[in-house]
Amino acid sequence: MTTLFIEHQCPQCGAPAILEESDRLVICPYCRVTSYLIQNPYFRYMLPDNAPKNSQLIYVPYWRFKGMLFSSVSDGVHHRFMDMSCQGFQSNYFPVSLGFRSQALKLKFVLPETPGRFLHPTFSRDDAMKIFIRRFSKNLPSPVYHQDFVGESISIIYSPFYVKNRMIDAVLNKSVNISLPDDFNLESFPGGPPEWRLIFVPTLCPHCGWDLSGERDSLVLICKNCNTVWFSRGERLIPVKFATLKMPGNFFLPFWRIKAKVEGVCLNSYADLIRVANLPKVPRSHDDEIDFFFWSMAFKVPPKLFLRLNRNITMAQPRHEQVNKLPSGHIYPVTLPVKEAAESMKIIFASFACPSNHYLPLLPRITIRPEKARLIFIPFHEGHHELIRENFGLTINKNQLKLSSSL
Ligand SMILES: [Zn+2]
Ligand SMILES: [Zn+2]
Repeated sequence: MTTLFIEHQCPQCGAPAILEESDRLVICPYCRVTSYLIQNPYFRYMLPDNAPKNSQLIYVPYWRFKGMLFSSVSDGVHHRFMDMSCQGFQSNYFPVSLGFRSQALKLKFVLPETPGRFLHPTFSRDDAMKIFIRRFSKNLPSPVYHQDFVGESISIIYSPFYVKNRMIDAVLNKSVNISLPDDFNLESFPGGPPEWRLIFVPTLCPHCGWDLSGERDSLVLICKNCNTVWFSRGERLIPVKFATLKMPGNFFLPFWRIKAKVEGVCLNSYADLIRVANLPKVPRSHDDEIDFFFWSMAFKVPPKLFLRLNRNITMAQPRHEQVNKLPSGHIYPVTLPVKEAAESMKIIFASFACPSNHYLPLLPRITIRPEKARLIFIPFHEGHHELIRENFGLTINKNQLKLSSSL
């Protein structure tokens, strides 16, 4: 697993900083200005060049992908963490992969003022995803009933080149071992100046004007003054519906509780869950009237743990009293957006549906669409090594949580 490091300048005072790929909330140590970083629809980075001055640089795109791939096959749900890159511009004149350079070097954001020509990707993001899936599905037993990417982050890394009789890799300032035809013309490749800008969203509460708070990799920001939670959509902050479960505990982990429209299998009520998961209990008459919700962690952890905990909490269906107040203990940051959590619903279903040889072949015909969601903070007891919420079957190793920030 790799983390990219990015050289960045404070938009206010110009002070340099080194960011991690997952950083969103950036506090300048010099002028104390806080910015919330967004680049739509994905971040675009570039590798630094060592080319002689005034070289006409051309930047070649490579897709970079990190995320979890879950595959439902006849013997259950397989999972793996993927961290890879592939050529985004199909051409024989450039290397097919970035190699290790994006890990070894500090990247920069591509900004509108960055000089050079940026080639347009010939593979779309979806094409790139299909390539990644194909590469990772080779060893799966067939048939594969269903696959889902969850929690993926996709970005483009541009690598610089220039032509001086030969194609020169401008990072190493060394020629690429590929011969060019006599009429070779770099200008014929579709591209142009960078048109993407980094967006800095002010971190002031849209409701009361107070400073919003969050961890550096947090996708939601919190106003402790007016008790609100905010998520960025485009360049705006929009409020998030949230609640805290009223239970003892001092360490609060965020979860998405999602009401979904399920078609192809009956899964609307708690009674349905008892039947589909084959729980060792008999549905009571009013269990038919209790809504069924999917529950997913709102933070990244390794895929095996993600699957196990989402299964356990969805089977537990927490129905404790909720209060519309931010927790007063330690709040762990939201690093998995609700859209990504919703993509895990079919996988969660596949993890508890029993018997699996009856339900898994039905997966291609089952649809599960999210209708509404709420962010729920659940209190955990903090032990020496673990965070524990025993009644929902949730135990998380604190070390594992620490390591998860680079996922
Ligand atoms: Zn500054
Ligand atoms: Zn506020």
